[in-house]
Amino acid sequence: FGLVHISTGDILRAEVSAGTEIGNKAKEYMSSGRLVPDEIVTAMVTARLSLKDVKDRGWLLDGYPRSAVQAESLEKLNIRPDIYILLDVPDDILIDRCVGRRLDPLTGKIYHVKNFPPENEEIKARLVTRSDDTEEKVKARLQIYKQNVDSLVSTYSDAMNKNNWRGIPTRLNNIPHSREIRKYFYEDVLLATQRAVRDGKTRLKVEISIPELNPEMDVYRIGTLMELIRILALTFADDGKRVKVCVQGSMGEGSLAGMPLQLAGSRKILEFMDWGDDGALGNFISIGSIGGKEVEEQDDMYILVAPQNAVGNCIIDDLRAMTDAAGHRPVIIVNPRLKDLPGSSGIMQTMGRDKRLEYAASFEICYSFRLLYYAGTQFPIMGALRMAYPYEYELYKRVDDESPKKEKYLILSKFAERPSGEEINDAFEGKTRDSKRSPGIWGLLSNLF
Ligand code: AMP
Repeated sequence: FGLVHISTGDILRAEVSAGTEIGNKAKEYMSSGRLVPDEIVTAMVTARLSLKDVKDRGWLLDGYPRSAVQAESLEKLNIRPDIYILLDVPDDILIDRCVGRRLDPLTGKIYHVKNFPPENEEIKARLVTRSDDTEEKVKARLQIYKQNVDSLVSTYSDAMNKNNWRGIPTRLNNIPHSREIRKYFYEDVLLATQRAVRDGKTRLKVEISIPELNPEMDVYRIGTLMELIRILALTFADDGKRVKVCVQGSMGEGSLAGMPLQLAGSRKILEFMDWGDDGALGNFISIGSIGGKEVEEQDDMYILVAPQNAVGNCIIDDLRAMTDAAGHRPVIIVNPRLKDLPGSSGIMQTMGRDKRLEYAASFEICYSFRLLYYAGTQFPIMGALRMAYPYEYELYKRVDDESPKKEKYLILSKFAERPSGEEINDAFEGKTRDSKRSPGIWGLLSNLF
């Protein structure tokens, strides 16, 4: 996660070997396996937490807090973990791990005489044993741990037991989105899509409408869509699949010819994009358009870039020809817009309206993410709805911290099917699912997809 790893034990050992004042004070406590006085460690940790890298990247505290007093110090500073991990290991295994633990003073790498021996004799010769890693001292440390662990667990119980919760990124109103935010979504979409393909699904739909990927907003950025497509295609290609990435061509005839604005130039971008040095493009990845003729013997799967209807032109007939030809091979449509648009005279559709809509719905959603706003607005963000195959729809509500000010989302509830505006409304108001409510106030960006 790119967090700053703050290990109080490591910092203290560095202070001891540098012979600093803190080190000299801490030394005897450490070598006897007792806790160093709270005020020394807390001052050290708070100083470290105030540095800029921590503010930018977040933190992982390792070995702190170790007592109720230390936990309180963090609480007073409003420093709370999003996630608290309790490693629950039987005593005899812990004793064996400590007694067999060896440290390479040169690299800081940690070995174990049996479980993880050093790579060669040279390293082996320089390994050292921590003075507090004797059986007797480890037992004393375990005893102190046991006296303290309950108070820590109760302080952080709300940050434990998150199951497979990954949280959602904040600051989605900052445009351009940060690299971390883009990365989060690329990976989130990728993992969900991979799981669905692995489960044998062949008609898949990804719907993601963060501001940069929402063509209704003026911050729409085609590069973000292309990067998402590239990551999907390259990852499947890495698995040995031959992937065809398709963008619809120009539609209509004569003066009506053209393509949806959202896709203008995208084919060229795909062709000129960096697809890596190892010849993925041409071997495992090819670029095509949408239609039955594009389907070739050697293709293993298809990724379709935002297929969409344009006024008077319906992409669905081409799409259908393509899926018919693709047969059992996966077809993944990313941010499609297949709703009916008003027709222009003289242009006939081969399929009737109901059939077209039914076809559009035949793609199973494997990833969905949308921000929630009050109806008719695109600011401020009030919450979010996320679904990543095969899990349920997760509804998040925005509950910012006031001081220090921090954007925060809380998971409110989960739904097996996509919740209606009314259900979202109820969850936001804390109502139970069956009590009847007035129509939802949420603008679900229902004109999308
Ligand atoms: P560790 O490497 O985490 O096992 O820490 C080694 C030793 O440093 C401990 O046995 C303590 O003596 C001291 N120490 C590390 N973290 C703390 C802490 N949060 N509070 C008090 N003492 C600590």
